[in-house]
Amino acid sequence: MDALSLNEKNVFDVASIKQQFPILQQQCRGKPLIYLDSGATAQKPESVIEAIRHYYQYDNANVHRGVYQLSERATQAYEQVREQVRAFINAEDQHEIIFTRGTTEAINLVAHSFGALQIKADDEIVLSYMEHHSNIVPWQMLCEKVGCKIKIIPLHEEGTLDLNEYAKLLTPRTKLVSIIHVSNVLGTVNPIEQMIALAHQHNIPVLIDGAQAVPRMPIDVKKLDCDFYAFSGHKLYGPTSVGVLYGKRKWLEAMPPYQGGGDMISRVSFNKTEYNVLPYKFEAGTPNIAAVIGLGAAIQYLESIGMDAIQKHEIELTHYAQQKLSQIPGLKIYGHAKDKMGVISFTLDDIHAHDVGTILDNEGIAIRAGHHCAMPLMEYYKVAAMARASLGIYNQKSDIDALVRGLLKVKEIFGRYTHRE
Ligand code: PMP
Repeated sequence: MDALSLNEKNVFDVASIKQQFPILQQQCRGKPLIYLDSGATAQKPESVIEAIRHYYQYDNANVHRGVYQLSERATQAYEQVREQVRAFINAEDQHEIIFTRGTTEAINLVAHSFGALQIKADDEIVLSYMEHHSNIVPWQMLCEKVGCKIKIIPLHEEGTLDLNEYAKLLTPRTKLVSIIHVSNVLGTVNPIEQMIALAHQHNIPVLIDGAQAVPRMPIDVKKLDCDFYAFSGHKLYGPTSVGVLYGKRKWLEAMPPYQGGGDMISRVSFNKTEYNVLPYKFEAGTPNIAAVIGLGAAIQYLESIGMDAIQKHEIELTHYAQQKLSQIPGLKIYGHAKDKMGVISFTLDDIHAHDVGTILDNEGIAIRAGHHCAMPLMEYYKVAAMARASLGIYNQKSDIDALVRGLLKVKEIFGRYTHRE
């Protein structure tokens, strides 16, 4: 284990981790920045910033094309990250790792390409009530195109999925189950291994939206046995505009290309074009090479800390936050699953979430306020918006204590102050 992250007593050393993130060393509104919006995007450690700078300074060239040294170096660095990602999520082979722009593009790729291969009129796709818009809208677009239908797994009030109802939704018409691993609103960790096994009993493939899970726990796609797994680099302490679609080889081989252009072909003539082999078949055009290299540096950084240690830290801090926030009168937390991590969404009296966010900003505290790209969930809980604190590896208990002080101040400003500890 790297000395950076765990000291001799095997304690997760947040203070030294935080030191590795230059952006967190600044003040905002004259106060030390407390960043509680890693669910939207995580900050980047020095090593990621340096890897991108190094690439542009020394290695920049297009990949898979040049015959000269720079291009060879860029190609090698790019392909090395594919192997890193494969090992990080324990995929069987590198050809199952497709670089995309992020989770959104990965899901759109499956909706287009798997959709064209497998989904016809009156077929059904099973989603859950707690999906992010990026795991709803691509399927609605497919429904408009081919006439398929979406079925929704309902929720329990505590923010868990109704697994009895899920079992009933799986029928011979179901062609795909597409579900979120960790909810970006409720923090619920869904029992996906069990849900995948159930779908497979009916020969139904499963896509997992892992945008909020991959930064918080070790992922083993072989053990999960999922057919597709999507995630974003920027939530994983890496750059924006890079993400990953993992797909089982048998599906990716059978699926048609998503976009046409350079790199995804082996031979082009005006009569007939032959497509390239995996994974290039799904990577048309010049990719975001620097971002892929930055993603490699992020994975290396996280592995030096250890994903098990990160998971433990996130769970402990989530429990601490849940307990502290629930002591504030008038504060309502959404999401009480036993298995919950990384995200705490709430409302405070009748104060709009944007006002909560703006007042906290004056205290140097960055949280998210709004519908969190999950409008159906807002509708379910009958609120227009929620405030959300989401955690990262650089957050500590004192950040939560500052959030609590900030929220008491919000109540004071709005004349709702009823309690002082
Ligand atoms: N799914 C979930 C659960 C998310 O939290 C997000 C980002 N908020 C996305 C999908 C979309 O990710 P991206 O914008 O990086 O494509």
